[in-house]
Amino acid sequence: DGTLVTRPVRTTCPYCGVGCGVLATPDGRGGAAIAGDPAHPANQGRLCSKGSALGETLSLEDRLLQPEVAGKRASWDAALDAVAEGFRRGLAQHGPEGVALYVSGQLLTEDYYAANKFAKGVLGTANIDSNSRLCMASAVAAHTRAFGEDVVPGTYEDLELADTVVLVGSNLAWCHPVLFQRVMAAKAARPSMTLIVVDPRRTATCAGADLHLALRPGSDVALFAALLKHLRDEGLADRAWLNSHAEGVEAALEAAQAIAPEAAALTGLDPALITRFCTAWAASPRTVTLWSMGVNQSSAGTDKANAIINCHLLTGRIGLPGAGPFSVTGQPNAMGGRETGALATMLAGHLRFDEPAEHAALAAFWNAPALPRAPGLKATQLFAALEAQRISALWVMATNPAVSLPDGDAVRGALARAPFLVVSEVTRRSDTAAYAHVRLPALAWAEKTGTVTNSERVISRQRGFLPAPGEARPDWWMVAEVARRLGHGGFGWDGPAAIFREHAAVTGLARPSARAFDISGLAGLADDAYAALAPTRWPVPADGPASARFFAQGGVLAGRARLVPTPFRAPAEDVCPDFPLRLLTGRLRDQWHTMTRTGAVPRLMAHSPEPTLTLHPTDVPGVAPGALVVAESIRGRTIFRLALDEGQARGTAFAPMHWAAELAPSGRVNALVAPHVDPVSFQPELKSAAIRVSAY
Ligand code: SF4
Repeated sequence: DGTLVTRPVRTTCPYCGVGCGVLATPDGRGGAAIAGDPAHPANQGRLCSKGSALGETLSLEDRLLQPEVAGKRASWDAALDAVAEGFRRGLAQHGPEGVALYVSGQLLTEDYYAANKFAKGVLGTANIDSNSRLCMASAVAAHTRAFGEDVVPGTYEDLELADTVVLVGSNLAWCHPVLFQRVMAAKAARPSMTLIVVDPRRTATCAGADLHLALRPGSDVALFAALLKHLRDEGLADRAWLNSHAEGVEAALEAAQAIAPEAAALTGLDPALITRFCTAWAASPRTVTLWSMGVNQSSAGTDKANAIINCHLLTGRIGLPGAGPFSVTGQPNAMGGRETGALATMLAGHLRFDEPAEHAALAAFWNAPALPRAPGLKATQLFAALEAQRISALWVMATNPAVSLPDGDAVRGALARAPFLVVSEVTRRSDTAAYAHVRLPALAWAEKTGTVTNSERVISRQRGFLPAPGEARPDWWMVAEVARRLGHGGFGWDGPAAIFREHAAVTGLARPSARAFDISGLAGLADDAYAALAPTRWPVPADGPASARFFAQGGVLAGRARLVPTPFRAPAEDVCPDFPLRLLTGRLRDQWHTMTRTGAVPRLMAHSPEPTLTLHPTDVPGVAPGALVVAESIRGRTIFRLALDEGQARGTAFAPMHWAAELAPSGRVNALVAPHVDPVSFQPELKSAAIRVSAY
């Protein structure tokens, strides 16, 4: 509201799903001192390199500060009229199927809620998907198959209480650094704790591990099938718990039994190492298996996650202190998107398309008779529809799909030919914004106000501490203004607190159907209580207290938990003589997403200043480290600086995902990656493209 703040403000880091609390103290000149919040349960005062450099990202250089229509500065009224008209035209041309929103785990929960209500409640389309589809859709699908709902059963504390921590497909040291620091501090205090890393690459995380299993990319299901069989053979199935709380046991065991004898061949691991892993996992009931993008970003991502969950269910190691399967999200508010239903596969508040009472309750609550009855287009489908000109109007919020989606050249082509494209953004340095017909200036991290939910279900306040620059506005406000122009009266919020109350009320609809996500106890939160809200873990039911862990005391959610048979499937794209290397993609320690923010901080850029392709030394004979190389797949080509590392498995390559054409003409890794998706979660396989590499 323009008020100058100079006292420390409690807010949250806008980068990863750890969700660290931040104390920001404005300096009165547009900057701020940044420190970790000792009172926040996620980080207890810690920050990583990215979080501690937040004060260096506050410059207004390159900010988008005024609305633009057709490349020219416009008033807000003119820009919002143009957006409303573009969507009106899109609806007239192709109906609700022909309009879409593509949103982001960078949005606050209130923005997410507004965007989803606009898409499903006003436009009548389920074509709203989030860049979280690229991040953790496989975990969502696996949770839903196993528990009947998308629920992370445990808490970060479980990682400290466990005797054995297994990290699967997670370079936790770089991608969730504060959580890794917590694990390492617990291990230092209790050296008997065992840390196991399952990852094709020898990453920075392996430096702290007791055991590293460098399995073949995409073979996780085979490893966990071997573990499931081992647990059964060793008599560790908790039959009493299973009899009263789970189903699908025999079918899952049968599927595992079929794969387990091939585990060594499929994973490429020494059988003795697999046995050592199984023995370590079995050794204590206090075992946590954490997974991240190495599991999720796969054409078998949902099966991989269920193969992990199966082992915890078979042994009853779930919902107890120090025990459980644990998915960590990449983005700061991926969980908020899941909660508000801002994914094509969900309604709001974990309400379901195919539950008539839940659908009817939401349609009535929103006064939305055209509320869609079936899921819409998921991320890769949405951009394929755009390319085929079946989408007439698209609004992209706070994300940069021109860089982050697979088959990057095709996505750029689709954006370039889009009949009507709106982009709401904070930065001009977005490749996607360059294609937009209407550009809307959004508030950035330091200015906006709302809530986020981290990977352990803790809802935290994000609080603005700098005034809105130029004509920038909150995303939820833009959505509400367009909804009003389209004649919908349900968007008269006077601020984020009102949106949060409505979102919380949705989670209480159509009870008593058994749903875990319930924050209806916060639906009556007054404005001042919302302003002061301390980090709060859900559920927060209206009718009483709730436990920190799901499955606590052996209880389950909607009926019984389910073990899911997980047959083995190799990655969709195989290497071949023409493209003999398998490309894995991932994050760097000091960069975030497409570098529109961290790329502006010199000390963060210094860690890895150029897009680099890492290979095993024997895989490119005759090319010296530091040379430029060309990487090609059947979809595209790009240029990297070559690095050689004996920790990179032979036959594989690694490249960071961050570089965009705006920042460098090379290193656009997703130009190489195919848009293959998991058939259950529709998450793209971003970690397995067949490429060849030659000297530049
Ligand atoms: Fe931010 Fe994640 Fe680092 Fe915490 S661990 S400071 S949330 S980037």
